Amino acid sequence: MQHKVSTPLLSWYDEAKRDLPWRRTRNPYYIWLSEIMLQQTRVETVKDYYKRFLEQFPTISALASAPQEQVLKAWEGLGYYSRARNLQKAAQVITNDHGGKFPTTYDQIIKLPGIGPYTAGAIGSIALGLPVPAIDGNVYRVASRLFGIREDVGIPSVQREIRALVIDSLPSERVGDYNQALMELGASHCSPHSPACDLCPLAQLCDSFEEGDMDLLPIHEKKRPPKEIDLSVCLLTYKHQVLVVKRSERLLHGLFVFFLIEDVTKLSHSSDILGEQGLDCKYQSTLGEGKHVFTHRIWNMTYLHFELQEKPSEALLHRLHAQLVSKHELEQLPLPTAMKAAKEKALTLI
Ligand code: SF4
Repeated sequence: MQHKVSTPLLSWYDEAKRDLPWRRTRNPYYIWLSEIMLQQTRVETVKDYYKRFLEQFPTISALASAPQEQVLKAWEGLGYYSRARNLQKAAQVITNDHGGKFPTTYDQIIKLPGIGPYTAGAIGSIALGLPVPAIDGNVYRVASRLFGIREDVGIPSVQREIRALVIDSLPSERVGDYNQALMELGASHCSPHSPACDLCPLAQLCDSFEEGDMDLLPIHEKKRPPKEIDLSVCLLTYKHQVLVVKRSERLLHGLFVFFLIEDVTKLSHSSDILGEQGLDCKYQSTLGEGKHVFTHRIWNMTYLHFELQEKPSEALLHRLHAQLVSKHELEQLPLPTAMKAAKEKALTLI
């Protein structure tokens, strides 16, 4: 299978590949960063973030020693912030355990925080030339069609089967390019719906093209819909300041949000909860509604403005992981995209 697939695919890739900043380097740090940023994020969006991030943290040691808030701020707007936290944790592991040099074996790379089989394979093959596959969602689609896998790709044994078939197809040279070519084919011709098989370099070898069931593959079991949560986003102002809370929960951990109250639809209940927390507030107005969709949940938000009647004590702020911040300070803090509309509203209140 090796040459059959790799020869036409690599020839096609040489012609069709997009010129992307991270394709002009073999520096493992740069490739690692691009791979992490590209998870769940569009190429066009990543380009600017990638450039700015590397200007701010040009080396692994610069990233390892930066304050976490600075790293999260550089990530602001990209979402899935655990990626940024793990990136920095991994940079610290590399600094402490590998003398600041990016590890050179697949087994070492995959042990780094935030790096799974796909990312380890991508960095290993692209930056270091290791003979390992890099199987992302695009490659699962291409491979299931190419090799005619007609079982649920969510099942681990089916994933193992696909992985074995991709490994079997790896060329002895240019493995990194081959992996990228498979991904590029999935991102272009071999799209989820109506793939452009007439333009595909693998059409002659493709099982599902021959069978005509491309649109039915890969087979996915039904996903559970995300959970919807009603959320009061309380903008608590005191003079020219607003109260923000540093998240300790897993979702958006380490980022700043406004005072959030979950599963409360009645205004009076929000006021009661604020009072129970020791925050003496007076309701001012309701500032509209918003929605933010995460992978597994949806926040249906109602923006409420309350005025704090007195300045909360330091002990209370500490207990709530909260602080009062000015307009300027609010601009500097890392806030998730889910808080973007609330932030705009808060800036007009203080
Ligand atoms: S022939 Fe069609 S289905 Fe098969 S790999 Fe190419 S684009 Fe995908």
